[in-house]
Amino acid sequence: MRTRAGLVYPRDDNRVEKRRRDGGGGGKPAAKKLKPAEYDGGNIDFFDSLHDDLVVTILCKLSSSASCPADFVNVLSTCKRFNGLALRSMVLSKASTKMLSIKAKSWSESAHQFLKFCADAGNIEACYILGMIRFYCLENRGSGASLMAKAAIGSHAPALYSLAVIQFNGSGGQKCDKDLRAGVALCARAAFLGHIDALRELGHCLQDGYGVKKNFSEGRRFLVQANARELAYVLASNPGDLLHQDHVTAGRVLYTDFGCNVPVPEAHPANRFLTEWFEVRGSSLRQCSHMGCGRPETRKHEFRRCSVCGGVNYCSRACQALDWKMRHKAECVAVERWLVDDNAGGEFNGNEDLIVVDS
Ligand SMILES: [Zn+2]
Ligand SMILES: [Zn+2]
Repeated sequence: MRTRAGLVYPRDDNRVEKRRRDGGGGGKPAAKKLKPAEYDGGNIDFFDSLHDDLVVTILCKLSSSASCPADFVNVLSTCKRFNGLALRSMVLSKASTKMLSIKAKSWSESAHQFLKFCADAGNIEACYILGMIRFYCLENRGSGASLMAKAAIGSHAPALYSLAVIQFNGSGGQKCDKDLRAGVALCARAAFLGHIDALRELGHCLQDGYGVKKNFSEGRRFLVQANARELAYVLASNPGDLLHQDHVTAGRVLYTDFGCNVPVPEAHPANRFLTEWFEVRGSSLRQCSHMGCGRPETRKHEFRRCSVCGGVNYCSRACQALDWKMRHKAECVAVERWLVDDNAGGEFNGNEDLIVVDS
């Protein structure tokens, strides 16, 4: 590396100094400039003289600030040295959420391997994303759930919430595997960390007495907190501009409880991956109707349906409440025949499956 002041890092061999002495005529040895041919010739390679620690520090910065996976992956293919250093645990453990946002259409064995390296390096975001992919897309429930648990132990709020959804639904098992109390406990931990969906879910659980002792006013408090946090989050990410016409025409408008309409917050990369995955490959089972979720059922009739129209189904009360405000409120129409079908399906049985709409 060269600056106006000269070399930044001293070289460990003395070839540069020797060349100065031989060709400089004694007067101004430093003034002799290196010709491009000398770089190409391999005699001088300033990159080689950089200490590994310095290159790793730069790669750590890149991995924590990369805006997409390609920003980082392109570096891996640049040279052998970059490839070796970029795959060090220290670099992978700092990978940003955006760097780990692999698209479902780009999924491959090497993408899987890369996420696994990051998860093994202790990156809890990678643990969560790979856990969700394994659990729902690859149907490897055991390893998916344990990766999510690893992220949850590291206080990863979306992982805690996703594990709560799995417990509420008995996902990956039978209906009798539902553990509502465990679901509420996980939800409470995620809500404590400020996770908006978890706050909303907990609010509905308290209002309905679902897995926890009924406490309507406490439930209402959590719902208000969820809406306030949601509004604050959207305002922080769209400062000074609450709602574009583009969002209205795209149907992505969230009508908040505070009389202020805002764009819908962006879904987590893991949810986007699930949505894209099942869009391309399809699923024999139903998916959550909330567009920012993407979770599929793991057995028939796992998700609850809208008690009025029966035409939509949700993995959780949080998804239902959000989709109601965004979209379904305008579309929901009572259709008598669905009630007959629901009874035949054997899943629509009283209050447990009746979704209480929070309008
Ligand atoms: Zn959902
Ligand atoms: Zn409906």
